[in-house]
Amino acid sequence: MDYQRYLITKTDFQGLLKHLLKEKIVDKILSGEEKRKHFAIIPKYVTDPAQIDEFPLSQLLVYGYSRTDSASNTLLHTKESLNNKIGVIGRACDVRAMVELDKKMQVNLENLFIVSFHDVGYIPNKYLTKYFKKNNIDDANIAHEWLTPSELILKMKKGKTVKIPLGKDVNIAVNCSRCIQKSHPLADFLIGTYTIFEKSEDYIITAQSARAKTIVDKLKWQDKLIDEKLNKQYEKEADEIIINCTTKREKELSEFLSNEDRFSLFVKCTGCGMCVKSCPVCFCTVCNLLEQVKAKTMDKVSFVMTRFSHVGDTCVECGRCESNCPVNLPLTSVFQSLRDKFKKERGYESGVSKTHKVLHLDVK
Ligand code: SF4
Ligand code: SF4
Ligand code: SF4
Repeated sequence: MDYQRYLITKTDFQGLLKHLLKEKIVDKILSGEEKRKHFAIIPKYVTDPAQIDEFPLSQLLVYGYSRTDSASNTLLHTKESLNNKIGVIGRACDVRAMVELDKKMQVNLENLFIVSFHDVGYIPNKYLTKYFKKNNIDDANIAHEWLTPSELILKMKKGKTVKIPLGKDVNIAVNCSRCIQKSHPLADFLIGTYTIFEKSEDYIITAQSARAKTIVDKLKWQDKLIDEKLNKQYEKEADEIIINCTTKREKELSEFLSNEDRFSLFVKCTGCGMCVKSCPVCFCTVCNLLEQVKAKTMDKVSFVMTRFSHVGDTCVECGRCESNCPVNLPLTSVFQSLRDKFKKERGYESGVSKTHKVLHLDVK
């Protein structure tokens, strides 16, 4: 067993976050608050341990933040980590974005205590409003939720369980279905629900860093350590998810690349700028390309093509651009193809290591 894994409850997780604040390991925790919808979480920094009781753990794990927000995007726009120690709970792609943003001095990795989701993917908000309305599901009655590779499972406040098969109506982001890096070695902890049985509301947390292991000792989680059998099951499930995503990625990206008309799809771009707004590695205060689109000195196809070259080598595959694109352009098919090409031809993968130079600065 490489890592120590523990079976914990939501209350144990809150205890971990409170410990970070009380022991002044961090000054603030990036949490979130529910606004209007159960699945629409708005980022919010908290400093008072009492506010941790409202941490929306299962919502963030299953849906993520609302619309264009993400943990990494919030760190970028608030610049909080430049002067404060922040506890941040995000996804592996968020951690990759934090690595890229540190290279650009927008985030200070040394000031971060990172808990990363070890996820299947996230369900974009756009699926849920429509599905819940059609199926008379009142999201205000959801008490807890989790995702398996095939289902979204909702536990309602009155005890009923609703199972929604992943497919055409509700699904994880297309980018996630092809994501083959669902954890990040730089995170202090990983948390997720692989192997968790249907009636359980527990999580499995993995201590990856030395300071995470010290905290586990302080919190006296030794009796929560999972046994070898469950650990093997966890690793098997994690491996199977990656194998399935690899197969899907190879098939879909090769189909995309063999379509000679693939770039004609991008004429549908409306120039709305949601892709820029969602992107955690787009760090210009004002997007010059969008300004040119607005001024009609650049056409929309040129905008999309130029953006591919601007962020292609720092894209961390979060998929937010495509999830928020109102005309569903296959943006991540391009970004994921580029990532594979950079890896194959230059051994470069953005967001993996801080010492790995940005590709366009590493021209030999
Ligand atoms: S892109 Fe990968 S790491 Fe990011 S949310 Fe999707 S599955 Fe998780
Ligand atoms: S380009 Fe798209 S997939 Fe890549 S980091 Fe930006 S928002 Fe995420
Ligand atoms: S989100 Fe889609 S439509 Fe809007 S500017 Fe980006 S690519 Fe174009």
